Amino acid sequence: MAFDRDLFLPVTKEDMQRRGWDSYDFLIITGDAYVDHPSFGTTIIGRVLEAEGYRVAIMAQPDWKTPAAFTALGRPRLAVMISAGNIDSMVAHYTAAKKRRHDDAYSPGRKAGLRPDHATIVYSNRIREVYGDIPIIIGGLEASLRRFAHYDYWEDKVRRSILFDAQADILTYGMGERATKEIAARLASGTPVSEITDVRGTCVAAKFPTVCVYPRVEVPSFEEVSASKEDYARANMVEYLEHDAVSGKAIIQKHGKEFLIVNPPAAPLTTKEMDEVAELPYVKEPHPMYDEVGVPSIEEVRFSVTHNRGCFGACNFCSLAFHQGRTISCRSHESVVREVKALTEHPGFKGYIHDVGGPAATFRRPSCQKQLKHGMCRNRACLAPQPCPNLDADHTDYMMLLRKLREIPKVKKVFIRSGIRFDFLMKDPSGEFFTDLVQHHISGQLKVAPEHCVANTLDYMGKPHIEVYEKFREKYFKLNRRYGKDQYLVPYLISSHPGCTLSDAVQLAEWLNKQGHMPEQVQDFYPTPGTLATCMWYTGIDPRTMKPVFVPKTPHDKAMQRALMQWRKPQNRALVLEALHKTGREDLIGYGKHCLVRPDKGQGTQSGGGHWEHGEQKGRGKGKPSAQKPGKGRGETTVKNGKKEESKRPEKPVRKAGWAKPSPKKNARKKK
Ligand code: SF4
Repeated sequence: MAFDRDLFLPVTKEDMQRRGWDSYDFLIITGDAYVDHPSFGTTIIGRVLEAEGYRVAIMAQPDWKTPAAFTALGRPRLAVMISAGNIDSMVAHYTAAKKRRHDDAYSPGRKAGLRPDHATIVYSNRIREVYGDIPIIIGGLEASLRRFAHYDYWEDKVRRSILFDAQADILTYGMGERATKEIAARLASGTPVSEITDVRGTCVAAKFPTVCVYPRVEVPSFEEVSASKEDYARANMVEYLEHDAVSGKAIIQKHGKEFLIVNPPAAPLTTKEMDEVAELPYVKEPHPMYDEVGVPSIEEVRFSVTHNRGCFGACNFCSLAFHQGRTISCRSHESVVREVKALTEHPGFKGYIHDVGGPAATFRRPSCQKQLKHGMCRNRACLAPQPCPNLDADHTDYMMLLRKLREIPKVKKVFIRSGIRFDFLMKDPSGEFFTDLVQHHISGQLKVAPEHCVANTLDYMGKPHIEVYEKFREKYFKLNRRYGKDQYLVPYLISSHPGCTLSDAVQLAEWLNKQGHMPEQVQDFYPTPGTLATCMWYTGIDPRTMKPVFVPKTPHDKAMQRALMQWRKPQNRALVLEALHKTGREDLIGYGKHCLVRPDKGQGTQSGGGHWEHGEQKGRGKGKPSAQKPGKGRGETTVKNGKKEESKRPEKPVRKAGWAKPSPKKNARKKK
């Protein structure tokens, strides 16, 4: 369906002329296609500025090799604002194995290569080249997470704050609406950009640290964190802890002769402000210039609603706490209901709301009352390894919101696709939401993220111990049986996280085998900028304790961990065998139900005497000899009287990998 291009922010001089503009105030450059939807950060900023009365134009994915491309819309009156797009350009372009990705969901027609590596820096330098001293404000996830001196996985080195490399005047971090409005108002009033140094949620460079007007703390300099991993870890922890709108101080980090001043975070938006931002006049579609090819990322969000921001989950591998913060902001029920009602009028609406979520779907209130007054605790996390006794895990508000949405005419189903913190759910005193979830809000399968099963690794991840997931799983399938549902449960897992030894990875494979679940896809740990886990990965130090942490770093070690999670795949067999031998877990080579792989042809499992025989186990000696007879699978090789024989049994239907399903219970009650 074609949408009127004048409903969008201008992208050409002609668009501006049709509006009768002879000049405009702000140019926003983005590394993504222009999709006028509030799940795109640059779109939010554009619409927020428009609502403040400014004239805003969008330049999406300009050709960075041609300086002239950056002058296509003419020089804006007040400033240029630059973002790499919704995700870090290096994450968008490369896999965890540093291989170039072949497509890009944020680009028209899924085409790769439409934005440069380190897009914020490249765009910003081009603007300096063509417009000289025009105020440049950088923002978005890439700038936000690279605001301090940071480890860059792709270059394998510590880079200075992106503010310096981009030659920008101001860096806004976090979601940025408050800071952007403040900067815009000051620029519009004639304040030189060099004097805008004190806006919360921003960073600036200064010759003296005394430019900072807030209580401040200094972390080791760029040069120091580049030279010393201990200093890097120390700095990273301070940066993480001070990211608190209530208790956080400004942070100073020296870079050469200059000082990076990171002002304290902006206050989270109130519910009223969240509503206002969510209900700006977004078209909620890609710009018509992409009509022929489309922009794939819209499909994920077209019929989804974001109702919250922030996350107190504190997973160490996640950058969200370092971007949006750990304080929850949420929209009112009325605002979400209005949005869903509007979606029901969309010509493509088929009755399904795909998601009512955010960083964590179920968070709609602060983790506790203390947090509101004093900020987040510095010495513990709200959920892991044990939930804090002060945690308020009442899910009623979210449940009531979903119930209202289910009642809206034309809405057939309201699904939840954002992550559900199962540990938070298990602390809900009522349990009523869990029932609603199973009955109404799962589209065939529920994805949750235990991430691992070994307590040691989970502690490094900042996740609850596996018993919590197992209790959740049990209850989930119990409720499924009670309500006659046949819904899957998909656990997300990460391999090669800092702290995860090869033995831990073997235990994970054992656990998965016991669950009857082999993941279809495996997520290798990805050291993205700014997370505590990335700090562990780079420094080999846990910044929370300053103690050494094991890090699986070599491609071969990582490949073994990955292979163990998909132990049944024939191509992984050699790596799995190697891992089992290395860890002394030959007890998992054999024919027993608990075994991960069969012995090599002509060999049995290794017995205690060093011989290879069927049905005996070595290693930790925990398992009993296999009750399962060898050679019952298709094409398996058995050894009989020293001779190899191929099994003639026909191929069994292979269990679909990747999903765990409830085992049907006899006489299970079925309810409609
Ligand atoms: S008191 Fe507990 S729930 Fe509240 S912020 Fe601290 S850890 Fe989180």
